Amino acid sequence: MTILDWSAIAAWAIAAIISVEVSRDLYHVLAHVWPPLTRLHTWHHRVFRPDLTPNSALIYRQAQWYNDVPESCVMMAFSAAFWGLAWSLTPEVAWGCSAGVLYSLVFLLSAMARGMGWAWAHELTDVTHLPGPFQTPPSRWWVNRPYHWRHHFENQNAYFCSTLTIVDQLMGTALSLKGKTIAVTGASGTLGQALLRQLKAQDAKVLALTSREQPINLDGQDIPSQRWQVGQEAALADTLAKVDILIINHGINVHGDRSPDAIEQSYQVNAFSAWRLMEAFLETVDGDRDRVRKELWVNTSEAEVNPAFSPLYELSKRTLGDLVTLRRLDSPCIIRKLILGPFKSNLNPIGVMDSDRVAAKIVKRAQGDVRNIIVTINPMTWVLHPLKELSVSLYFRWLTRTSPVGEICANQDISPES
Ligand SMILES: [Zn+2]
Ligand SMILES: [Zn+2]
Repeated sequence: MTILDWSAIAAWAIAAIISVEVSRDLYHVLAHVWPPLTRLHTWHHRVFRPDLTPNSALIYRQAQWYNDVPESCVMMAFSAAFWGLAWSLTPEVAWGCSAGVLYSLVFLLSAMARGMGWAWAHELTDVTHLPGPFQTPPSRWWVNRPYHWRHHFENQNAYFCSTLTIVDQLMGTALSLKGKTIAVTGASGTLGQALLRQLKAQDAKVLALTSREQPINLDGQDIPSQRWQVGQEAALADTLAKVDILIINHGINVHGDRSPDAIEQSYQVNAFSAWRLMEAFLETVDGDRDRVRKELWVNTSEAEVNPAFSPLYELSKRTLGDLVTLRRLDSPCIIRKLILGPFKSNLNPIGVMDSDRVAAKIVKRAQGDVRNIIVTINPMTWVLHPLKELSVSLYFRWLTRTSPVGEICANQDISPES
């Protein structure tokens, strides 16, 4: 056998395992929409209390026989069919697909062991259903306990995946916005209003945070609004405690002005106000429920890595982008960056992208759990931003120490005027 043959065998093995996972997740989706399967799957949803302890040992065992064992049989059947397909294409190396059959068999045997009521099988093989506090937010590529908890207790029509999150990412069910309270700063701006409209369309409860006196009016309808001013971020603490997702979207563009006042304003609004708001929000993340439900989205703009033809806008937005990268290292909840290209707005009348379409793309990508949401016409941003984010994040990780939320320095209360 040549190296090429071995590579083909390994490729079939990996493809077989991934396809088995995908088949399991699709079977799970089907179990939520097709009544004959729903009857079996309901047992799985009956088992756990919100702290992930089983309601009863008997129901736990029954759920294994009614849900997990049939699910593993579907995986077995699919892995055999996949092997058959591979054999019809490349008979000599198709036996790599045996990895998929073995993988499914492990799941079948562990489901049967759990069905027998053996405690070790529960602790060793049912890792997404073990009780105990959540140490991290929901993860991006692998299903961890916080990720799966949301399927049981937040929205059963989302978060379907079991091991890999691919199916949820593709279906847009990796984040559910339904019923969540989402506050948007810069709500009177063009993108702010477009975001509010898109979020409302996803059944979120929106809250506009604005410097204006009048409530924000969307398509002839007043929406819940709260007035606030840059420099008074701490005054929003009670509101932020009730907010599930905070979108920091306010900003200023002084264009060609390079006076000391323009420097002060750019940094205060674009960088420090956003940072203070970010800290005030992270302070409200308290306990497991907040850790999985709360999120922070920060509009840092593609000025992080590309010219925006406004030096002070770039300098202050880059500062904000770096602060987000730094605080992400210790964040108790998910933080997303919105890296946006030139959309048409009051700040940027010559922008080329339509703000409603930008907002729709932001929401769609967030539902696919994209953490750095890039929406731009500039292809360089797609290349430069991931490189910058990775290298800066590693640099910060190596040269700084952990700072859990709650030990934030007292400077937080210093307002820009003081
Ligand atoms: Zn479950
Ligand atoms: Zn389910």
